[in-house]
Amino acid sequence: MRMILVGPPGAGKGTQASRLVDTYRIPHISSGDMLRAAVKEGTALGIEADGYMKAGKLVPDEVVIGMILERIAKNDCMRGFMLDGFPRTRPQAEALDDAMQKAGVELDAVVLIEVPDQLLEERAVGRRTDPETGTIYHLTYNPPPPEIAGRLVHRKDDTVEAVTTRVQKYHSETAPIIPFYMAKGILKRVDGVGDPDVITTRITAALNS
Ligand code: AMP
Repeated sequence: MRMILVGPPGAGKGTQASRLVDTYRIPHISSGDMLRAAVKEGTALGIEADGYMKAGKLVPDEVVIGMILERIAKNDCMRGFMLDGFPRTRPQAEALDDAMQKAGVELDAVVLIEVPDQLLEERAVGRRTDPETGTIYHLTYNPPPPEIAGRLVHRKDDTVEAVTTRVQKYHSETAPIIPFYMAKGILKRVDGVGDPDVITTRITAALNS
C-alpha cells in the first residue's frame, strides 16, 4: 500500500497515520517529523528549515522534495509507505509522481481528511506530544495522563499566529494538489470531525471501497 494523508494543520493526520501504519505494516513518513528532527540535531537542513517552520511557512520545495525522495527510496519502503504532510504543493506532487513513475510503482490512495477551518486553531493550540512515545494528546479532547504532563512538548508552530498562517498556506499551496489526485481517480475524502476511533474506521472503509 502506497498512500498519502492530506489535510489542513490539525486535521489529525499524525494521529491517524500512527494507527494506520500498524494495520498496513508500512513505514509512516512524516515530512514535519523529519524536519523537526533535523532542527533538533542542528543539521544544515534543520538550520535552513527552522525559520520557515516557526513562522508557519512552507520549507522550500527543493529542500523537502530531496529529503522525501531519498527516504522513500530506502529498502523499508519497497512494499509501501504512508506519507504524512508531503506533498504539500503542486511541484511536490509532480516530483513524487515523476519519481514513482521512474521506479515503476504507483500510488494506491490519497486520503483527504476534511475539517472546517474554525476547528483547526483550537485543535492545534491544545495539541501536546509525548517525545518518548510520539503519542499526540489534546489538553481538552484527549487529555494526557497527569504523570507524563511534565515531559509533553508544545510545538513552536502550534501558536494562534503560526496556525493562522499554516491554514492560509494550506488553502493557497496545498489545496491545488487535490484536483491533481482527483484526476487520477485515487482521492478518498473522509470527514475528519469526530472521535479519532470513528475517523480511523472511516478511513479504513474508504481505503477498502
Ligand atoms: P507538519 O508537522 O506536517 O504540520 O509540518 C510542520 C511544518 O514543517 C510545516 O508548517 C512546514 O513549515 C514544514 N513542512 C512539513 N512538510 C512540508 C512540506 N511537504 N513542504 C514544505 N514544508 C513542510
